[in-house]
Amino acid sequence: MSTSQNLFDVAAIRAEFPVLQQKIANKPLIYFDNAATTQKPLSVINAITDFYMQCNANVHRGAHTLADEATRRYEQSRDKVANFINAYDRSEVLWTRGTTEAINIVANGMAQRLKPGDEILVTEMEHHANLVTWQQACLRSGAVLKVCPIYEDGSLNTGMFVKLLTPNTKLVALPHVSNALGTINPIKTLTAQAKNVNALVLIDGAQGIAHGGVNVREIGCDFYAFSGHKIFGPTGIGVLWGKAELLQAWPVWQTGGEMIAEVSYQSATWGGLPNRLEAGTPNIAGAIGLGAAIDWFNRIELTALQAHEQRLIQHATALAREFSGMQLVGTAGTKIGVMSFNLKDCHPTDVGFLLDKQGIAIRTGAHCAQPLMKRLGLPGTARTSFSLYNTMDEIDQFFNALHKVKQMLT
Ligand code: PMP
Repeated sequence: MSTSQNLFDVAAIRAEFPVLQQKIANKPLIYFDNAATTQKPLSVINAITDFYMQCNANVHRGAHTLADEATRRYEQSRDKVANFINAYDRSEVLWTRGTTEAINIVANGMAQRLKPGDEILVTEMEHHANLVTWQQACLRSGAVLKVCPIYEDGSLNTGMFVKLLTPNTKLVALPHVSNALGTINPIKTLTAQAKNVNALVLIDGAQGIAHGGVNVREIGCDFYAFSGHKIFGPTGIGVLWGKAELLQAWPVWQTGGEMIAEVSYQSATWGGLPNRLEAGTPNIAGAIGLGAAIDWFNRIELTALQAHEQRLIQHATALAREFSGMQLVGTAGTKIGVMSFNLKDCHPTDVGFLLDKQGIAIRTGAHCAQPLMKRLGLPGTARTSFSLYNTMDEIDQFFNALHKVKQMLT
């Protein structure tokens, strides 16, 4: 695979994704639902298959060769994640089911630490995973949930963000990138501002992880959460990264095997990081698959990847602006390749259904962001989300298909 921007070889990348080789509705599949989940390259599929075919065993109980090999591959993946996000230490990388579980682990601990009158600050663009969790933590603790507004273009009102920070703000929970709008938030600056009032900062990185060199030390946050399936890895595996000094004392989440130090019939003590927050047999194959996904992703030069995505979103946006009756939702200055839209007099669900009949996969609805849709006065949107294997030609075909959809619906 090329590492140069000009030679970014989309055809070679596409060839590595078996799922993209098929036809839907007799047309080559156009997969524009990458914000929901990304497709998996062969190397990831093979890493999972190889694990089950060659060394399936439980980890950390190694009385035999298979268990040793399973543990080696599983823990090697933790090293890969730690390097990928520039963690201070591998023990700061906790395996979770995904972003949602990672946020819940932090919220569970926060709920036990917060007092009435404490504040949590989120934004109007939250996915439910980074909103309902904090609502529940506030209900349990008596803390107050504050919501930072966005502008009409879908960018964060950063002036209000600073105003909403107070000495009572104990935690700021922010999306790195909005799944519904594509907005990239200036998380480094926002984190520094939150630190001025000594708040903890959690970044919901579900959409950020696959788009740009996440470096947790540089961001300066306390927690960064992401899902493997958004970065070409499997579902059912994700990561909570947190600073060791916080995680070491974080209230335990689930109890059982793996996470203990000493157990008697009456009581137990907890083990060290990362195991104290990883009860039970983990998703071993998932972690190994995520490690393979990171290896695969690391082969692609980041600037080339970002340039490719920017070309796609700019091309799509330009065509959308010429498309009569098309309303773009989320036009912030800094965006990933997400284009949310509505067609005049057409319900987004019908748009998605009729595009599927032409072999094009998109997402429609509220995108797990019902309050955001209400805030924007919309029933939902149709959302195309592009990834590194998408092409300009696919975008042209999408607009041709959309013309047909419009003719059918209006
Ligand atoms: N936050 C954002 C911004 C997301 O896009 C998603 C997934 N759509 C999540 C959180 C939740 O991720 P998961 O369902 O993988 O736990």
